[in-house]
Amino acid sequence: MAGKSFFIDTSKCTGCRGCQAACKQWNQNPGTKTTQRGTYQNPADLSTATFKLVRFSEEAGSSGDPAWFFFPDQCRHCLYPLCKMEADKKAPGAVIIDKKTRAIVFDPAVKMSPEVFKGIREICPFDIPRHDEKSGGMAKCTMCFDRVSEGMLPACVKSCPTGTMNFGDRDDILKMAAKRLDEVKKVHRKASLIIPESVRAIFLVKDDPEKYHRFASREAEVGLTRRMALRRILDPVARVVRS
Ligand code: SF4
Ligand code: SF4
Repeated sequence: MAGKSFFIDTSKCTGCRGCQAACKQWNQNPGTKTTQRGTYQNPADLSTATFKLVRFSEEAGSSGDPAWFFFPDQCRHCLYPLCKMEADKKAPGAVIIDKKTRAIVFDPAVKMSPEVFKGIREICPFDIPRHDEKSGGMAKCTMCFDRVSEGMLPACVKSCPTGTMNFGDRDDILKMAAKRLDEVKKVHRKASLIIPESVRAIFLVKDDPEKYHRFASREAEVGLTRRMALRRILDPVARVVRS
């Protein structure tokens, strides 16, 4: 079960969006038409053409003054992926676990109706998958498992100039994340890792996760379906930790 993991240290993120552009380029996703919405974040949300999105949130920082909270959002590659559990029931083969990396990968060739996709999206605790209603397939981050299988880094990690995006063997990444949290906590007492025991994309945040993004963590999510979904992914983990 070890596999690979990301460590995403948002305390180092400058919001340059290099990761977002690199993701689009590697996946050959088309550009997305953007509009002036009174924010630097563009596009507005994840889509079948945007698997990685740097979210920009302006909130009160620790001093009370306005501060930027950058959140390079993506699939968390959950250890117990509820998207797959739901897809297996209604659209078998749409979501697959890559054996080598343990990435949660989608197969765009498996078609599904908007109703079936709605169930998959709603059960994802982090609101990640998106559906192309024309083709019928779903889409999201693949962990660049094709690059990783050839010994390369995911495109977002390779392009990040600040050390925010890190990737490697899961055990090494867990150690890196714990060590960095100790350092950041000396300056930002509210710093935390977002459920590292349950996901393969481990975010470090300096402040309350909800300041970054509504679906950043379990505390930030609000829907009953997602709350139940989180309970289901956390329970098996708790059992593993205890055993
Ligand atoms: S974050 Fe959502 S889409 Fe990604 S593996 Fe977890 S449940 Fe699936
Ligand atoms: S490339 Fe790195 S610094 Fe730039 S937005 Fe992405 S995570 Fe942040």
